[in-house]
This record gives sequence, structure tokens and C-alpha cells, in this order.
Amino acid sequence: MNKGNLVYEGKAKMVYETDEPDKYLVYFKDDATADNGVKRGTIEGKGVVNNKISAYFFKLLKDNGIANHFLETVSEREMLCKKLKMIPLEIVVRNVSAGSLAKRLGLEEGPALPMPIIEYYYKSDKLGDPMFNRYHILTLDIATIDEMNELEHLAFSINTIMKERLKAKNVDLIDFKLEFGRDEKGKLILGDEISPDNCRFWDMTTKEKMDKDRFRRDMGGVSEAYQEMLDRLTL
Ligand code: UDP
Repeated sequence: MNKGNLVYEGKAKMVYETDEPDKYLVYFKDDATADNGVKRGTIEGKGVVNNKISAYFFKLLKDNGIANHFLETVSEREMLCKKLKMIPLEIVVRNVSAGSLAKRLGLEEGPALPMPIIEYYYKSDKLGDPMFNRYHILTLDIATIDEMNELEHLAFSINTIMKERLKAKNVDLIDFKLEFGRDEKGKLILGDEISPDNCRFWDMTTKEKMDKDRFRRDMGGVSEAYQEMLDRLTL
């Protein structure tokens, strides 16, 4: 597998063409940002850990019938993925009050929500990733109603599958962010990554945070927490 041109560089990942037109190589970096890029830093070893954790969840989801872009792990920091046309939406699923939801609703962080919540955010650096609803998505012709129904169904299914597996590892799935794309036939496929960068993971007993909030909130022990999550899943 030869690495071709860089097609996209994001905050935490680089995406390269390969010699196969329907496949991309995704490279995981140690760079981290928060507060819409205002806070910047590196988390040593994060790229290696996130490559492994993402592969773990993508395999788990595939085994449970959720189509996703992961094809194979290529190196410590690289995975081969199916090429998708990404939909510019972040889909957040929440089980427990935390982060921006706690702020928006005036809730404490920590209590379980009466039911899981889904939120959409429009991926736009210029606009600062605003929260969107179904009408906004239709107005900008980002997805159809049928697609949104399917996206939400997939997001809730992914939540159930991940929550159950994490429970066996004594980890609470607080919330997480997903991104989807369309394949050449227009089928919705899960893309991006699933890692402590875009999920909140709390130890079920101690409530210790094992995710990017340790970086966002300058709590220390960031690399150690990412490694602990990988160990819990794979050891
Ligand atoms: N999230 C993400 N990328 C973003 C914003 C949020 O991956 O640009 C994830 C975040 O890690 C958390 C969930 O989405 O697991 C909900 O984040 P929230 O809206 O609470 O935002 P925050 O408090 O991180 O600003």
C-alpha cells in the first residue's frame, strides 16, 4: 500500500490518497486542540492509542452490523479506510449530563439523562460549529429527512453497542461524537474516529475521567488516561 498525496489535514488526523482510488490512509497525530482551536497542545502517544482504540470500536461495530469505513490497521499510527464523501455534521449522543449540555440546560455534570439525547452540530470552522436542528439541515441541503432518520437510528444503535461493551470494562459512556459519510452508492457509512478525543469515558466506580476533558481542563495525566482506556479495552 503506497501513501499518495495528502488530501486533508485536520486537528488530529491526516488523510492520504493510496494507489487504490476507493481507499484512504488515515494517520493519527499527537496534536490536540480544544475550545475551537484556541487551546493547542500535544498528548504524547495519543496518535498510537487513538489508532488502536478506533480500530477496536470499528471492529466491534462491524461485528454488530454497523457499516463503517475501517478496513485494516496499517501501522502504529495508520489505518486504511474506505473513501467516503463526508457529511458536514457532528452527531453527538449523550447518556449523562456533561460538558456543553450541562452548561446549556443549567444542569450539574454527572446525573444520568432520562433518555439518550442526540444533537447535531454543523461542521464549519468559519461559523464555529453551531448546533443545528433538522430544519437547518434541510435548509442547507445537508441531508434528507430519511437520511436523518437513519443517522439517528444508527447513532442510537452505536450507543447501545458501545455502552454495553464499556460496561464490561467498568467504564461509563457519558457522551460521544460521530461523523458519517456516503459511499459511492449513497449509503450512509460511519467514518472519522472513535477515541478518547471524541468520547467521554468515566470509570464507573471512581468517576475518574479517561478522555480529552483531562486536556481541555488541564487536569494532568492525559497520556496515562488514554493508555488506561486502551488497556481496559484490550488487555
Ligand atoms: N466533541 C467532539 N468534537 C467537538 C465537540 C465535541 O468530539 O468538536 C465530543 C466531546 O468529546 C464529547 C461530546 O462530543 O464527548 C460532547 O461534547 P460537548 O458538546 O459537551 O462539548 P465540550 O464540552 O467538549 O465543548
